[in-house]
Amino acid sequence: MTDKLQEYARLLVAFGVNVQRGQKLVITCAVDHAVFARACMAIAYERGCAEVILNWTDDDCARQRYLKADDKVFDVCPEWRVRYFTDYAKEGCAFLYLLSEDPQNLLGVDPGRIARATKSSGEALREYRELRMKNENAWTIGALASTKWAAMVFPDLPAAEAEALLWERIFAAVRVNGDGSAVEAWRAHAAKLKERVKILNDYRFKSLHYQNALGTDFVIELAENHLWEAGGDKTTGGVPFMPNLPTEEVFTAPKRGGGSGLIVASMPLSLHGNVIEGIRFVVRDGRIVEATAQKGEETLRNALAVDEGASYFGEIALVPYDSPISRSNTLYYETLFDENAACHFAFGEAYPTNIEGGADMSKDERIAAGLNDSIMHVDFMVGTADLSVVGTRADGTEVVVMQDGNFVF
Ligand code: ZN
Ligand code: ZN
Repeated sequence: MTDKLQEYARLLVAFGVNVQRGQKLVITCAVDHAVFARACMAIAYERGCAEVILNWTDDDCARQRYLKADDKVFDVCPEWRVRYFTDYAKEGCAFLYLLSEDPQNLLGVDPGRIARATKSSGEALREYRELRMKNENAWTIGALASTKWAAMVFPDLPAAEAEALLWERIFAAVRVNGDGSAVEAWRAHAAKLKERVKILNDYRFKSLHYQNALGTDFVIELAENHLWEAGGDKTTGGVPFMPNLPTEEVFTAPKRGGGSGLIVASMPLSLHGNVIEGIRFVVRDGRIVEATAQKGEETLRNALAVDEGASYFGEIALVPYDSPISRSNTLYYETLFDENAACHFAFGEAYPTNIEGGADMSKDERIAAGLNDSIMHVDFMVGTADLSVVGTRADGTEVVVMQDGNFVF
C-alpha cells in the first residue's frame, strides 16, 4: 500500500474510531478492499485491540440478492443478524464503516423490495442504532474509491484515471498527504469547527429561515435546549472519536413539528442504491406533506413512508459554500462527501446528543423534549452559493447566520 493509504488507514483506526486497548472493533468493508481492511486490522491490533471482526459486503452479491432471492426474505431480518450487531454494540465495540458502493447499484431493482428490507432491518436493528446514535459506541464512516463509484463521479475519464482521481479527492478531503500530518491537521480543523459551535450555541436560536434563488423559502424551528455540535464527539465513556471523515458541518436538532415552507434540494441524493434528482419538499408544521423528484421519486416516497417519523426532520447542518469539498466543484453521489459541500437537513431520527441531557433520556423523554424518532436518517443537501440563513432568537431579534452561502462569523 502507498504511504497515503497507510496514513489514511491509521487516521481512521487511531483517530477516527480511536480504538482502545482491550476493545473490539467491527469493520464493515467491501471484499474488493480486503487489502485496506487488513491494514486497518493490523493497526488496530498494534494498538492493543482485543479482536477485529470483519463484516464483508459486496455490491454484486447485494444486487443479485435483491433481484433473485425469494420475495419473503425482504420482510425478515434474521435473529442472528440482530444479535451480531446489537451484542457487539452492547459489549462496547467500536464500529468502522468503509463505504465504496456504486451509487446506483440497485438501479432497476423492485423498489418495494428495497423499502421492505429497509423497514425490516431498520426496526430489528433499532437498539443497535440507538446505542450508536447516543455515542455509547465510537463509530466512524470513511470512504474508499471504487471503479463504479469513480465512473459515476468522473464519467468522461478512463476507468483507471477516474479511480485514481477519486482517491486523490478522498485524500485531500481527509487531509492525508502521506507525510503523517493528518491527525495534527484534523485537530486544528476540529478546533475551528468548535469555535462556530460556541457562537451558535450562545445565540439560542428559536428558528432559522433559509432562502435562495432555487426556490427554497423555509423556516425551521430548533429544539428547545438544543446543542450545536461539530468536529468530533466523545463516547459516553469519555473516549473522543470522529464519526465522519471528512466532516465540515456544524449541526443540531430541529424541534419535531416546527417548520414550514418550500425546500428545493441543491444536489442529487444517492439513497438505497438509487440516485434521486430534483427533490422538492413542501413542509407544514414540521412535516413533509408533499415530496416530488424529477428522478427516483418512488425511492424517495418509499423512504418517507417507512414510518411516521421519516416525514419529520432530524438534523439541521450548516456547511459553508466555500468548504474545501465544495471548492472541488464535484458531485460525489455519496452523502459522506456531498453533505460536507453544502448545508443540509436530514429527515428522520434526531441525534440525542443534540439536546442537553439527551443521551441520558429514554426514547419517550426524548420525544417529549421535541426530538424526532424514526428508523431513517437521510441527509439531503440544500446549500447554494446564494443561500441566506437568518436566525430568530427567543426575544424576536434576527441575526444573519449565513450570507451568499457562507457564515458571516
Ligand atoms: Zn449532517
Ligand atoms: Zn445526518
